Amino acid sequence: MKINYLDVNKKNKIKIYALDDNPGILLIAGVHGDEKSGVVILKKIIQQLQNSDKPYPVAIIPCVNIPAYKANSRLHPKDKIDLNRIFPVIKIKSESYQIAKVLQDFAEKFTTVIDIHVFTGQHTLICGVDLNIAEDKIQKKIKRIMSQIGMEAICRIDHASEPKKDGSLCAYLQHKKILAFGIELPPLEGLTKNNANTITNNLIALIKGFHKKNKVKRLKSYLRLPIFSEYTGFFSPKKVPGLEVKKGDTIGNITGNDQQNLNVSTPFNGRLISVSYEKSVKGGDKIFVIGKKIKS
Ligand SMILES: [Zn+2]
Repeated sequence: MKINYLDVNKKNKIKIYALDDNPGILLIAGVHGDEKSGVVILKKIIQQLQNSDKPYPVAIIPCVNIPAYKANSRLHPKDKIDLNRIFPVIKIKSESYQIAKVLQDFAEKFTTVIDIHVFTGQHTLICGVDLNIAEDKIQKKIKRIMSQIGMEAICRIDHASEPKKDGSLCAYLQHKKILAFGIELPPLEGLTKNNANTITNNLIALIKGFHKKNKVKRLKSYLRLPIFSEYTGFFSPKKVPGLEVKKGDTIGNITGNDQQNLNVSTPFNGRLISVSYEKSVKGGDKIFVIGKKIKS
């Protein structure tokens, strides 16, 4: 593969691997520095395409946000900005804006952009993120690709319960009619070899155009409803993602500091999309996500 760079500033260059100069599919990861699974997957893909003699129209940026990646932090370590909340960039205020600007100018040349993220600290289904902003035709094509690359569910962001999700790269690109979407993987410690291989192979098949003629099965779509802890204590999950749950079902429990055991149940019927690992939580921490089935 050819290696190119996006020049962010004198000290920061973002590495791009490409097989062809024609922009077709762009795969990126590491927008959030503590989300390593996508970086690992993209490096696997680069390795497998390394010796390809065919000019498949793909460019891969395995790690977009190098300062955040090095700091193992969601946010940029210096300016404390969440890179995926500042698109489109109009004014450069700090390094995060410099990164976002070169990325946005580069990404908008492509027809398809897949931005790989991670549900940190959660057991999770592998989800395609539906921002629910693109026009129907684009939405339909995006969902088709999500199915082709083996997503387990499509999750729609509920802007009422998660209003702070604006300003993402994919939202900006969708306004430009690009087939841009995020996918959410489990964190590295929860990413099985099997999962990793499946996603790697599916993305390679997408790059090579193998999917085109295949019939795709329609993925189920859910509205993402995050549930936050009301207590402080140690959370233990009692259910695994993928299960259908009914209002009142126990999802886990929290052992309070006074050793009292508090039941955590779901306020909605739906499918358990993700649930926190065993860990200490405080009031307001996201402990699980219920997917409420919607028509896609
Ligand atoms: Zn992320």
